[in-house]
Amino acid sequence: MRDGAVRDVAVIGSGPAGYTAALYAARADLRPLVLRGGAFVGGALAATTEVENYPGFPRGVLGPELMDAMAAQAARFGAELVDDEVVAVELAGEVKTLTDRSGRAHRARALIVATGAGHRRLGLAKEDELLGHGVSYCATCDGFFFRDHDLVVVGGGDTALEEATFLSRYARSVTVVHRRDELRASRAMRRRALTDPKVAFAFEREVVALHGDAGRGLTGLTLRHTCTGETEERAATGLFVAIGHLPRSELFAGVLARDADGYLRVDAPSSRTNVPGVFAAGDVVDRVYRQAVTAAGTGCVAALDAERYLARLT
Ligand code: FAD
Repeated sequence: MRDGAVRDVAVIGSGPAGYTAALYAARADLRPLVLRGGAFVGGALAATTEVENYPGFPRGVLGPELMDAMAAQAARFGAELVDDEVVAVELAGEVKTLTDRSGRAHRARALIVATGAGHRRLGLAKEDELLGHGVSYCATCDGFFFRDHDLVVVGGGDTALEEATFLSRYARSVTVVHRRDELRASRAMRRRALTDPKVAFAFEREVVALHGDAGRGLTGLTLRHTCTGETEERAATGLFVAIGHLPRSELFAGVLARDADGYLRVDAPSSRTNVPGVFAAGDVVDRVYRQAVTAAGTGCVAALDAERYLARLT
């Protein structure tokens, strides 16, 4: 089924990157179509509580409120919002076709991909229930809420150690739990963490159970020794999971250039991908910063790049 007209711009994603791209494209009179996704309308922040580091909100803002405001701002200038997930793309040629889960085909001359990234999860019972109640995937976002807490960070790479040293500013103690007996992180990062008096290590251990509930928050966890299988209980009121991210780029496999971890490659500082007329922004591109404000910034870049691309077509 075709929805008829060929649009100037389509945007996939309704996080800060997608909505900001839609806002800029709409204000440029390009009437963008935004495919917001199925389960994750509003992106990662729609599932969180307080956001204290998005500029312009001196008292903080609730994640869902912020995302509703971004949606309303884009819609006010003519962005059309569709709650469906893109399941197939044809990107060759001047007109790009996106097929959604309902079987509709949407066509546009320029496409902005802002599909974000998920966190690798531990896959434990209660992990979802305790998210925002002691369990976090982002120290920069949530560390501030854990002043004087006893924290555990899971992982052994650069991100895990960076999070551990960042969290030690606030926490009473930080224990890094890692499955192996050595760290994967770079030497500099290892040195920083190993010399931090508040950071301790529990090697050859994995977290196998979380204790607490949404009301009380996280109260502790069970660790298992990866060689002996012995278990031990540990009191902790915060758990930061830093075992990697999964950029949502599968839809573009074999079409858009991706790096070894699946992040879309762009011709930085622009948002241009390897396919003319296709631009990418936000966490699906960014393995380093991963913040709402940086996603919004690159969403703006993508809309400006798309606008210039379209101007050259005519
Ligand atoms: P996302 O927000 O992840 O949005 C991706 C969008 O793509 C979603 O709308 C999804 O529905 C859509 N999508 C994906 N696939 C498809 C498809 N096939 N078809 C259609 N749509 C699709 N950052 C901060 O700056 N401050 C914070 O306080 C903060 N707190 C956080 C708390 C939590 C619990 C989490 C998980 C993250 C937090 N972050 C915070 C990070 C921030 O949320 C992300 O950096 C930001 O949301 C990335 O924006 P994005 O637009 O790239 O992707």
